[in-house]
Amino acid sequence: MNKIKKFFRSNQSLKKKWTISTAIVIFISYAAICTVIYLALYSWLIQTEENNAMRTADDLSTFFNSQDNSISIQEFQRNTSLTKAIVNQNQTVRVFNFDGYEVLRINDVNSAVPLEAGYDQLDKTIVSKEVVDKTDVFVVNKLVTIGHFTGMLQLIHPLTTFQSMMQYILTTMLIAGLGAIILAGSIGYYLANVLIKPLQDLRDSMVSVQKKGFEGKINFSYNADDEIGDLLKLYVSMMEDLETSFAKQQQFVSDASHELRTPIQAIEGHLSLIKRWGKNDAEVLEESLNTSLEEVQRMKKMIEELLDLARKQERDEHALANISNVLFSVKNELEMIYSNALIKIVENGNSRELHITENALSQILRNIMENGIRYNDKTPPEIHIDVHYLTESVFITVKDNGIGISKEHLPHIFDRFYRVDASRENIGGGTGLGLSITKMLTEKYNIQMDVASTPGNGTVFTLKFTNL
Ligand code: ADP
Repeated sequence: MNKIKKFFRSNQSLKKKWTISTAIVIFISYAAICTVIYLALYSWLIQTEENNAMRTADDLSTFFNSQDNSISIQEFQRNTSLTKAIVNQNQTVRVFNFDGYEVLRINDVNSAVPLEAGYDQLDKTIVSKEVVDKTDVFVVNKLVTIGHFTGMLQLIHPLTTFQSMMQYILTTMLIAGLGAIILAGSIGYYLANVLIKPLQDLRDSMVSVQKKGFEGKINFSYNADDEIGDLLKLYVSMMEDLETSFAKQQQFVSDASHELRTPIQAIEGHLSLIKRWGKNDAEVLEESLNTSLEEVQRMKKMIEELLDLARKQERDEHALANISNVLFSVKNELEMIYSNALIKIVENGNSRELHITENALSQILRNIMENGIRYNDKTPPEIHIDVHYLTESVFITVKDNGIGISKEHLPHIFDRFYRVDASRENIGGGTGLGLSITKMLTEKYNIQMDVASTPGNGTVFTLKFTNL
């Protein structure tokens, strides 16, 4: 048992362990079955041989007993054709008188076997297994009466046919056994290859990720829906998650280091200005402090937005948001900040809930509505929101009367840090990240978002919710 444990824990490859153990298990089962069959056949066949020998001896003795009293042994010696019809040509029959003198012989395949039992025991048939002339034989001794003569009949039944049959069976079993081991080994090797190949691929992929990092999509040729298939799918999905997180982390680091450099430099410039001139010049001091504060606020907003984009929050399947509530709370919030803005909400149909968190829905709507106010040169800036509650979907359109977006910029407004013209916004503080966050959220919650815009006239964002 310990040796088996040791073998399975050894450093041999899994393929080798699998092949060897399959071959050994199949061989042991085969050997056990063969041994049982061999022993059963042996005892059945040897019993048949013994019965044959007994039956011949009985037939012969009945034949002799049935003869006329006048018949003599010499007549049988002269004419053996009748007795030979009863006796098999491999068998030897001898008849002895009580002095042990041979008076009749049919065939002469084996020498006589001295009778060990006393004549007084011969009232019943004695059968024994002996070795005569180096051959295994059954010897049947029994009393016989031929006419007036009474003597002892000895039949020697050689077991050569039985032995060659057993030899034949053994050889066949050994050859078949050898074939079975080779077949079991090959099947074991093939199975080991088929089942261990995906594990080897998994190991190779892990080694490659460890050495070179994530490089494109991981693919495995093994697609079965079993434990190994599940393991591979789990690995692929874990790797994809890790890759996304890793990419987001890298993106965050590079975005933050690139985008925060300018505001920090601006603040640094203003602080040196204050240090050099501002202490005595109230106007410079006021202006520089104001600009620095604005830059700090922009930096704060940018960091928050970058963190929003970097965080990979799982979609909350059970969340429910009431559209009407969210719309009116965003409206109130914006009207507080942009007191001159005019926001109108029209709802068509019965208000309903969507499978999205209130937070995510208000972030999407706030970004779009706030842009409509900020990128607007009209007084007052107006935002018209239309909600259509349909049976299978809900449409929200957000229309502004702002400056609009020209055709060449429109495809890029969802890109990170993309800003059409920073100097034209109504109120400062843009980071170019708002619509990227909106897009990320709409993709996460399967919301279809379209945008149409006419420069000078305004922009319309349409959101289609089907995940009801
Ligand atoms: P930002 O922080 O600069 O507003 P966004 O990602 O929200 O970043 O928007 C990207 C750019 O798209 C903005 O800089 C602006 O030029 C343009 N934009 C977005 N919404 C509107 C709109 N309603 N009207 C005009 N221009 C818009």
